[in-house]
Amino acid sequence: MDAQASAARIGHVEKGPKMSVNPPAGQEASTKRHGDALENLMHERRSFPPSPQFAENAVGKASLYEEAAAEGPEFWARQARELLTWDEDFSQTLDWSDAPFAKWFVGGKVNAAYNALDRHVEAGNGDRVAIHFEGEPGDTRTYTYAQLTEAVKKAANAFESLGVAKGDRVAVYLPMIPEAVITMLACARIGAVHSVVFGGFSAEALRSRIDDAEAKLVVTADGSYRRGKPSALKPAVDASLAKDGHSVEHVLVVRRNEQPVEWTEGRDVWWHDVVDSASAEHTAVGHDSEHPLFILYTSGTTGKPKGILHTTGGYLTQTAFTHRNTFDLHPETDVYWCTADIGWVTGHSYVAYAPLVNGSTQLIYEGTPDTPHQGRWWELVEKYKVSILYTAPTAIRTCMKWGRDIPGKFDLDSLRVLGTVGEPINPEAWMWYRTVIGANGGKKENPAPIVDTWWQTETGAHMIAPLPGVTATKPGSAQVPVPGISVDVVDEMGESVPDGSGGFLVIREPWPSMLRGIWGDPQRFKDTYWSRFDGMYFAGDGAKKDEDGDIWLLGRVDDVMNVSGHRLSTTEIESALVSHPSVAEAAVVGAADETTGEAVVAFVILRGSAKEDPDIVTTLRNHVGSEIGPIAKPRNILVVPELPKTRSGKIMRRLLKDVAEGREAGDASTLADNTVMQQIAESLKK
Ligand code: ATP
Ligand code: MG
Repeated sequence: MDAQASAARIGHVEKGPKMSVNPPAGQEASTKRHGDALENLMHERRSFPPSPQFAENAVGKASLYEEAAAEGPEFWARQARELLTWDEDFSQTLDWSDAPFAKWFVGGKVNAAYNALDRHVEAGNGDRVAIHFEGEPGDTRTYTYAQLTEAVKKAANAFESLGVAKGDRVAVYLPMIPEAVITMLACARIGAVHSVVFGGFSAEALRSRIDDAEAKLVVTADGSYRRGKPSALKPAVDASLAKDGHSVEHVLVVRRNEQPVEWTEGRDVWWHDVVDSASAEHTAVGHDSEHPLFILYTSGTTGKPKGILHTTGGYLTQTAFTHRNTFDLHPETDVYWCTADIGWVTGHSYVAYAPLVNGSTQLIYEGTPDTPHQGRWWELVEKYKVSILYTAPTAIRTCMKWGRDIPGKFDLDSLRVLGTVGEPINPEAWMWYRTVIGANGGKKENPAPIVDTWWQTETGAHMIAPLPGVTATKPGSAQVPVPGISVDVVDEMGESVPDGSGGFLVIREPWPSMLRGIWGDPQRFKDTYWSRFDGMYFAGDGAKKDEDGDIWLLGRVDDVMNVSGHRLSTTEIESALVSHPSVAEAAVVGAADETTGEAVVAFVILRGSAKEDPDIVTTLRNHVGSEIGPIAKPRNILVVPELPKTRSGKIMRRLLKDVAEGREAGDASTLADNTVMQQIAESLKK
C-alpha cells in the first residue's frame, strides 16, 4: 500500500467505529507500523483459487449466490424440499410476525431420525457405511445405514419403555462412542428433546443442566478411555443426583470400559439389558417443523453458559445444506471426519445430524490426538482414507507444536477438503494446515482447499464460509456469507461499514437454523441478541471487512482492548506472537492499568529450546512492536505451560484476565482441564 492510500485508510477508519484497530490521528510514529500490520493481516495478498478440476466437480457453484439473492426465503424452502423428506409439506416458509421468535416451514411435519436413517435404507443404500468407529485403545466398530437404523429403532423403543415421551427432556452424558449418536437420534425419533452435557464436565455442571431442562432420563456410560487409561463417568452422574429434588427417573448406562460402578436399584438400567433386547420395529412419525430438537449450552467462553434451543425443520435444512456445500460433499465416495465432541454444537450439527441426513460415511474417534502417539490422527486419516477433515485451530496449532515430521510419516493423499471452526485461525496455522496436511507434506500439486467456517451454538449451522469450488481462499479469513445468509459488519449506530473498516458482526435477516430462544428465559434471549441493534441479531463478535469485502473475525467484542485510546484486537497481537518461531501458542488480554487505561498482557507457550533463552521476553516484545507497532508491545509476557481452554478448545481469556489483574479466577466450570489454572499459578510463582 502506498503512503497516500495508507493515509486515506487511516483517515477513513478514524471516522469509523470504535472497533477499529487503528489509532487516532496524531500518533504518527506508531501509525505507520500499525498500517503495515493491517496491511499484512487484513489485506492478505495470498489467495488460493480452487483448481479447475475441483471447481468443475464442485457441488456448490457460484450460481447458488445468485439464486439465493433472487429468491429470498423461498431459496430455503427449495432447499428444505430438496434436502429433506417431509411427512407433510409446509404451507408457509417463514413466520416472522412474532420476531425475534421465528417459525420456519410452518405446518410441515418431518422426522429427523427418519431423514438421517430409514430413508437411506429405503433408497437402497442400507449397506453404505454410516459410521466407522475407532476407540482410543484401537477397538473398532462399523455401522452401515441399515445397522444404525436398527440400533436407533431399538433405542427409541427402549426409551419409550422407560417412560420417555414426546417433549420430555433427556440428558446425555456420554463419551464419543456410537451410542452417543444413537441416543441423540433415538430422542429425535420419538420427539424427546436431548440436552448433551460434555463428558468432561463436573457433577455440579451436569446437575445444573439436568435441573434447568428438568430431564427425565440420563444416558451415560460406566466410563471411557482417555490418554491410554480408563476414565470414569458414572460416578459423576451418581454425585449429581445425590441430592434430592431432581427430575430424573432413570439412568441408562452403556458398558464401555468395564470399570466397577455403583448401582441404584430401580433407577439405574444397563443399556445392554434394555436396548439390546428391545424390538427392532419402530415407525417414525413426522413432528412439527418447529418441534424442539435439542437444548445445548454455549461453551461459556464469555460467561455463564446459555441453554440454546433448536427446533427441527429449519435446523436440519441449513445444517444439511452447509454440510453439502461448504465441504463439497460427495456422499458416495467421501469419508468425512469431524473431530468435535458431541458435547459441542459442532458435534451436533456436523457429526450427529447433517452427515447422516446427507447419507455420508463418517469416522468417529473416541480419544485424544496424542494417544498412543502424536501421529494418531494422521494414522486414522491414512487408515480410513479420510477425504474431508473438520477441526479447530487449537488442534492445528498443537500439531504444529509437535512438528511436521509427525504427520509426515503418514500418507494424507486422500484429503481433499479441510475445514476449521471455533476461533479465528491465524495465517501461520492456516498455511501449515494447507501445506503439511492439505498438500500431504508438499507432495500434492493441488492442496486441499481450506474452509474457515464462522458460526455459533446459536446459529446452528455455518453462516460465513467459503465455497471451496468457487471462493479463492485467504489465510485467516472466513470470507463470505453462506448463500442465503445476510451477514454484515456495522458501526455503533448499526450502519453497515464500508469495505476496509471494522465493527460489530450482525445478521440482518432470520435464517432457518437460528436459535428459537434460551431455554426457559425469553427475556435473556431478547436482551442478549436483539437489544443492541434494532431488528438485527448481534453475535457478540467483532469483525472487519477487507478491501474485497471479505470478512475477518477479530474475536469477542469484549476482547478488544483500549490502550491509551488505541483500539487493539487480541486476535491480531496473538497472531503476531504466534508468527515468531519460538511461540507455540499465545493468549492476549487487556488488564486494567493506571496510566494507559488498559495494558496488553500476553501468556505464551514456548517451543522447544526457546524455554532456555533468557532474552525471550524482550525478543517477543520487540517482535510484536515490529509486526504491529510499538503501541501493541505487551506490558507483560508471561511464559506458561498451558492455556485455559473450554471443551471446544477456545481460550478462556476472562480467566487469564483475572490472573493478569491479580484476582482469583472466576467460573471455570467449563474448562476442558481444570488443573490448568493451578499449573499457570505455579509457573508464575517461579
Ligand atoms: P459463550 O457464548 O458461552 O461465551 P462461545 O461463544 O465460546 O461461549 P460457541 O457457540 O461454542 O460458544 O462459540 C461461538 C463463537 O466461537 C463465535 O461467537 C466466535 O467468537 C467463535 N468462532 C467460531 N467459529 C469461528 C471462526 N471460524 N472464526 C472466528 N471465530 C469463530
Ligand atoms: Mg457465544
